[in-house]
Amino acid sequence: MKSKREQERRRPTAHKRRAVRPPRFQRGYVLAVANQKGGVGKTTTAVSLASSLSEMDCRVLLVDFDPQGNATSGLGVRPEPASPTVYEALSEMVPLSTVLLPTAQPNLLVAPANINLAGAEIELVSTFSRETKLRRVIEPVRADFDIIIIDCPPSLGLLTVNALCAADGVIVPIQCEYFALEGLGAFRRNAELIRSQLNPRLEVTGFVLTMLDSRTRLSQQVVQEVRNHFGDRVFQTRIPRTIRLAEAPGFGQPITEFDPSSRAAMAYRRLAGEVLDRLLQGQALTLTDGYRQEVAR
Ligand code: ATP
Ligand code: MG
Repeated sequence: MKSKREQERRRPTAHKRRAVRPPRFQRGYVLAVANQKGGVGKTTTAVSLASSLSEMDCRVLLVDFDPQGNATSGLGVRPEPASPTVYEALSEMVPLSTVLLPTAQPNLLVAPANINLAGAEIELVSTFSRETKLRRVIEPVRADFDIIIIDCPPSLGLLTVNALCAADGVIVPIQCEYFALEGLGAFRRNAELIRSQLNPRLEVTGFVLTMLDSRTRLSQQVVQEVRNHFGDRVFQTRIPRTIRLAEAPGFGQPITEFDPSSRAAMAYRRLAGEVLDRLLQGQALTLTDGYRQEVAR
């Protein structure tokens, strides 16, 4: 039996709704969450951002693009064994629209993934325009969403390349630990190559510091080092290391549902606000007329 205080703390409250009307993008803005390093908080960030943005009344699609399927299970979605997933859409067996599943939040849909997606990485090798397959698969559903978030696997392989070719922007989570910047040089070179050869729209929306333990000197050093490297591309919001974030996936709930008033939920809501602000600054031309007028006023 939960205490009254605990129940009170968990009740979704006014912070769920923003006073400001959310932006409506003419075509969904595609945002990849990527870093080839494993366990840095990509999926946690993708799921929590998707949920926070949908709380703000954005229409959000989360594309699980990792064969581990963590984003799918993290949202409490369990596809039937025979039902199609992102893999079938990528293999052109079905359109993406037929694989989308609802979540507990009305504005948030998920394109689920499972281990079959690992096969796609191999099958794609011999496909025509193999790097831009996901972009073509997403295109028909783009206008149905404001933001489409892609959770990438921990590699620089063909799946991540496809995600970056489909994306307008990429968010890179960086864990506040030793070797935080390790591999980021290779990631940036890869992203630059994709931008110059395959997807000129691609921009780095920002770097987000995750699993921050502000009491330790190590965390402070990493924050400083990342800021020295990436300057104002680093989001102001830092995600604290909290046990609640580690527990939430086990309950199949994003942190904003699992513990709505926790520090971590608040941090991800702030991050979602920052992301929206950056998209509005950089993407004004893709906004619908109505919203553009509202912004201009
Ligand atoms: P992979 O590379 O395997 O896909 P990832 O980069 O997606 O991993 P996550 O799965 O989001 O990383 O996080 C790795 C682990 O750390 C998970 O168990 C997650 O619950 C936990 N975790 C993520 N962020 C935090 C945090 N801020 N505080 C505490 N635990 C966290
Ligand atoms: Mg992951």
